[in-house]
Amino acid sequence: MGILVQKFGGTSVATAEQRERVLHHIRTALAREYRLVVVVSAMGRKGDPYATDTLLELARQYGNQLAPREKDLLMSCGELISAAVLSSMLSEREIPNCVLTGGQAGIITTGHHNNAQIITVNPKRILRELDEGKVVIVTGFQGQTTDGEITTLGRGGSDTTATALGAALRAEYVDIFTDVEGIMTADPRIVEDAAQLEKVTYTEICNLAFQGAKVIHPRAVEIAAQANIPIRVRSTMSDHPGTLVTNLSEIGRLAGEVRDLTIIGITQMPGVTQVKIRLKQGEYDSQLKVFKAMADAGISVDFISVNPSEIAYTVYDELADQAEAILRDLGLQPELLPQCAKVSVVGAGIAGVPGVMAKISEALTEEDIQILQSADSHTTIWVLVRGGDMVKAVRALHRKFGLHRLHES
Ligand code: ASP
Ligand code: MG
Repeated sequence: MGILVQKFGGTSVATAEQRERVLHHIRTALAREYRLVVVVSAMGRKGDPYATDTLLELARQYGNQLAPREKDLLMSCGELISAAVLSSMLSEREIPNCVLTGGQAGIITTGHHNNAQIITVNPKRILRELDEGKVVIVTGFQGQTTDGEITTLGRGGSDTTATALGAALRAEYVDIFTDVEGIMTADPRIVEDAAQLEKVTYTEICNLAFQGAKVIHPRAVEIAAQANIPIRVRSTMSDHPGTLVTNLSEIGRLAGEVRDLTIIGITQMPGVTQVKIRLKQGEYDSQLKVFKAMADAGISVDFISVNPSEIAYTVYDELADQAEAILRDLGLQPELLPQCAKVSVVGAGIAGVPGVMAKISEALTEEDIQILQSADSHTTIWVLVRGGDMVKAVRALHRKFGLHRLHES
């Protein structure tokens, strides 16, 4: 019998009605004879009584003094409560189960409180409980150091718990149940006919910038990718299989052919300022000065492009004034263009496929959109456009690459 890991996010376990849906998915898995591990997040969102943010607020009424170690003790409670409530529900429905904390589930982490890394997972205890025919409910987002200190894995870390357990247990799938039906070709609020993707690769989902990161934590994807465990991102509210996240060869095999869809999605990130510094002949040391000054000020730079006559990069809009002041102090005359947007064109098949950039330029030129800067990797091409052009750019690219048709094929 295969092992299945199901992870239910905060909204999925927030209300009795939602928990009936959780129960439905648990029953479905059991009917398919899976050995089942269920990972839960804390119930609800900020403002809900036992959500992680609400717990943090409780301590914050006395300021920001809570030490990281104690903060972990506080934050780990949310998942414990959620797991125990689910356990109670399963017991009432006569489904044998037990709850394990991260530490009890064998998740050993570094001692880096509030943002610990998993060092190893020892699934012995989980396997023993599964052998006894129980559904094993594991509190997400937490682990334990070798000294028995409770740690948490960074916000959104329940996904990481799920894929780390999936990897250690060689699970058949890790199902990430959330409040969307899956991964889309674009943000449906921008592109009306955005389609739901049946499958994407691990790299693609990480490159789907905000969208990808919102539905599943990138670190969780990385762990699944390393162990080659397929993930399904799916909705708690429906029985739809969602979006399968796996590696490229697997996708090709599933499709019975090598996949030729070059581009799978378009995403956007508004709110960045382009910084440009023109260099005079031989002013090479400016590069070092600029980036060192940004680093010293803790300003993260993106979209970096350096050539002998110019340095260009982006910073978040909020940090633009600070960046400008620093550059002026260095005796430079930066040009700043605020409120730009980074638009990403994502597809694992980009590398080696001619004409992708030509198509991007064509789509944007047709709409009179100027590309301010561009960059590329083997799975993504990024273009920087003015913020006012962002929506038009995303729609034009979505149309140009025929993404609305994906789901019909
Ligand atoms: N409850 C934790 C958080 O809000 C972990 C998670 O939900 O994934 O960050
Ligand atoms: Mg999450």
